[in-house]
Amino acid sequence: MYAYDLLVVGSANADLVVEVERRPAAGETVLGGDLATHPGGKGANQAVAAARLGARTALLARVGDDAHGGLLLDSQRSAGVDTAGVLVGGAPTGVALITVDPSGDNSIVVSPGANGRLTPADVRAATGLLGASRVVSAQLEIPLETVVEVVRNLTPGSRFVLNPSPPAPLPPEVLAACDPLIVNEHEAKVILGGADGDVSGEPADWARLLLAKGPRSVVVTLGADGALVADGRGVTAVPSVRVAAVDTTGAGDAFTAALAVRLGAGASLPEAAAYAARVGAAAVTRRGAQDSYPTAEEVEAL
Ligand code: ADP
Repeated sequence: MYAYDLLVVGSANADLVVEVERRPAAGETVLGGDLATHPGGKGANQAVAAARLGARTALLARVGDDAHGGLLLDSQRSAGVDTAGVLVGGAPTGVALITVDPSGDNSIVVSPGANGRLTPADVRAATGLLGASRVVSAQLEIPLETVVEVVRNLTPGSRFVLNPSPPAPLPPEVLAACDPLIVNEHEAKVILGGADGDVSGEPADWARLLLAKGPRSVVVTLGADGALVADGRGVTAVPSVRVAAVDTTGAGDAFTAALAVRLGAGASLPEAAAYAARVGAAAVTRRGAQDSYPTAEEVEAL
């Protein structure tokens, strides 16, 4: 009865990456290697991850009327994402300017561009898309007021999944809609402790504290240690899958997309998280974000 298994409402960025011997200090110029341009942004990543797993996926996002916007639309379409909801124009496509040194440390400047112009009115104009989607997921690389409008326009029976990244305090209305709220350790600390992120205790304690803030369920991802899921029935550990990690970029986005898709297919939260952990593990065995995302067959083979 739903046309889409997952609607992702979120960001689409071009990641512009240059390798350097040393990241420049203030006032300094350094020469780097050749520019590499990759499709990215948490929304675009999640949509590609879901489509690659075989889910009927749509993206509601905004890109600029420029070459980077074209790159993003192409990568979505070639993964099988329905891009009818991708709005074009209003500002340049969002970009992340990334310098990486030989130790793997990076410096990143993000220009949100068109992502910052995805407005509550854009969400209201897309209620048809929202109503046609079994699960709706969002992140915070678009304005918070736009995420609030998503929550207000959910249709009864659909499910909302939020990865609050980059982390920011969330209004009770948004927290109450999350089923689940998905956070890594850093995001958990910011949501619980405010900007200083000063939170004591163990991840299981954070999961309980986060749940007490109002979401219907919570997932805390723990990198190579897997994840914790928490709902009214308690806290459950989800083991990770042992792999040789090559690059963890975009692992959290793949995890969130896979979790959302499996929940929509009727899996319990621990079952969906166990599957998502396999998808996250597969994603860290290859370089890049979208390029690293597995198909359902590859997850099966892991
Ligand atoms: P984020 O990318 O948002 O920081 P995490 O690093 O917690 O998120 O990774 C998300 C999920 O991806 C984890 O819960 C786990 O399932 C999987 N994952 C990440 N890193 C590894 C790893 N080194 N080995 C196996 N699985 C991993």
